[in-house]
Amino acid sequence: MISYIFSWFERRIDVFKSREFSFDTDVAFRNLLLFVRSEKKHFIVLLLLGSIAGLLDVTLFLVIGWIVDLLISNKPNDLLLEHGTSLIAIGFVVVVLRPCVTILMSLVGEQTIQANFSPVIRWLVHQRIMSQSIDFFQKEFSGNIASKTWQSGQAAAEIVGSLLQIVWSNVVFAASVIALFGWLDWRLGLAIVTWIVLFIVIARIFIPMTRNRSRASAEASNTVNGHLVDTYSNIQTVKLFTDNPTDDAFLRGSLENFISRSKWFLRAVTSARASMSILSSSVLAIIGFISLRLWMGGDLSAGQVAVIFGLILRLDGQLNVLLGLLTNLFRSYGTFQSSISMAIKPVALLDRADATEMKVPSGRVVFNHVSFGYRENTPIFDDLSFTIEPGEKVGLIGYSGAGKSTIVNLLVRFYDTQAGSIGIDGQDIRDVSQSSLRRHIGLVAQDTTLLHRSIRDNIGIGKSDAGLADIMEAARKAHAYDFIQTLVDGHGRQGFDAHVGERGLQLSGGQRQRISIARLMLKNPPILILDEATSALDAKLDVDIQNNLYGMMEGKTVLAIAHRLSTLLRMDRLIVLDKGRLVETGTHEELVSRGGVYAELWHKQFHGGVIDQTAV
Ligand code: ADP
Repeated sequence: MISYIFSWFERRIDVFKSREFSFDTDVAFRNLLLFVRSEKKHFIVLLLLGSIAGLLDVTLFLVIGWIVDLLISNKPNDLLLEHGTSLIAIGFVVVVLRPCVTILMSLVGEQTIQANFSPVIRWLVHQRIMSQSIDFFQKEFSGNIASKTWQSGQAAAEIVGSLLQIVWSNVVFAASVIALFGWLDWRLGLAIVTWIVLFIVIARIFIPMTRNRSRASAEASNTVNGHLVDTYSNIQTVKLFTDNPTDDAFLRGSLENFISRSKWFLRAVTSARASMSILSSSVLAIIGFISLRLWMGGDLSAGQVAVIFGLILRLDGQLNVLLGLLTNLFRSYGTFQSSISMAIKPVALLDRADATEMKVPSGRVVFNHVSFGYRENTPIFDDLSFTIEPGEKVGLIGYSGAGKSTIVNLLVRFYDTQAGSIGIDGQDIRDVSQSSLRRHIGLVAQDTTLLHRSIRDNIGIGKSDAGLADIMEAARKAHAYDFIQTLVDGHGRQGFDAHVGERGLQLSGGQRQRISIARLMLKNPPILILDEATSALDAKLDVDIQNNLYGMMEGKTVLAIAHRLSTLLRMDRLIVLDKGRLVETGTHEELVSRGGVYAELWHKQFHGGVIDQTAV
């Protein structure tokens, strides 16, 4: 029953529901409102419950005053007889109504909103980040991106949670106290209003200060995180090259920066608390004095004085809590601003609003007067044009840095051309959705990185509907099946379930490459890109896998950046790049006999049947 109640409240928000949010504005608060608006009914319920809780609190203080006066004016024996019903009603409020409101508030606030709200925001921010271009990821630390994505949800939930659940009931409480005191005596009302006005002044001074300093501290904390992840993921370089890896001056520097910023932030918090404490002590004394004077003049009863003392002590406590909450609120807001600022960066490579799904009936690839540079004023290509006919197998050759990988980056639209266009079967790749484009292209890169997931997931990543049998078949074709069967990871998972990258399971470059070839075998796309595909394999396996790859190439358009003699010879045509220019094209024999760049490259590298890979 209890778990049913919990899960009922938990199920009110669907984290993965698709939501329309605008990341166009750089105003974090507006973004937050968009998030809240999509689930507004839960927030309204919480707001109502908060108001009821605030009113109940004040009512209970009034009841205390009433009881004190009752005790003074009644004989013990008459009390229950004359006021029994009222006392039972009060008992009902205390024992049943008040806990019900509090429990409901907790259920809506924690189970419905807190449990779901931060995942919703993390998911949205993650989706937004994933639509960013490759360039975005190359410019940011992965650790920084990850921690900002995570923080955005946490901070947003904290802001909304404290804003609604507690600030609101505090505001209702404070307003009721002002009304009540004003009704008892205008001087008391005035004292309370002055108190609250001064509280607002203090809050207005310290809150922006806290927010700015907290944002700086959150930025510094993310930078430390980015540096840590960068250090751990490049651990070999760090261990081999830094003088003292355990005391890296760079990391120490970023940590010191974080420490000084967080101290700066905490100073603002302490100053705010100190000012509040001075203010509230003075006000307590003044109100105490006024109410005693009023009692002496017969304007207040003993019960009323008891209510006043009770209420001002409670109000003092509430205002202190409120200041703490406001500080947290603005700290979270600073963190939220800092984390969301990354997500709202405009996406460089957006699908067009009317993007179509790409169709590849034959696989003709055209580079049409393409100009491109990663940075302005450093062009890699200037007016580059070539065509790969349907089913044609083209080898791309050139010295290191000639622009071979850049051609691949442009073809899969990791970057947009600055002039000219790239077409596949008559469709400009900018007119189709990026996911449909990439679905039709298979890439085996030289340095294959695997995700930290199971082997099965790593192979099946390109084809979500593939069953285990299909995955195993692809692994067999890629000559990966046998070694996969022997794998065991640090948690005892075996074979296709073993996770890559866990302790105890390290794969060699060749094994990783065979897994990525299996991925390709499974995906079976009409256009293949082999980026020095078989370079990490040993000679025997290389021949086997090449044969399988060639089997797979049947009828497909292939672009191969290859070093090996055997690969080049099997190509229909070679394209030779030199410093971003297409200098020669033709078959191996034609180019060798022409005596140009290719022939030079060929003679320089070819030593008795093996190409010297370091030169290309
Ligand atoms: P190749 O694959 O023929 O070795 P690339 O296409 O990788 O050559 O590189 C071509 C040029 O582009 C090189 O000068 C390289 O430094 C530069 N380059 C490659 N990737 C980037 C990048 N992400 N940002 C800036 N410059 C890059």
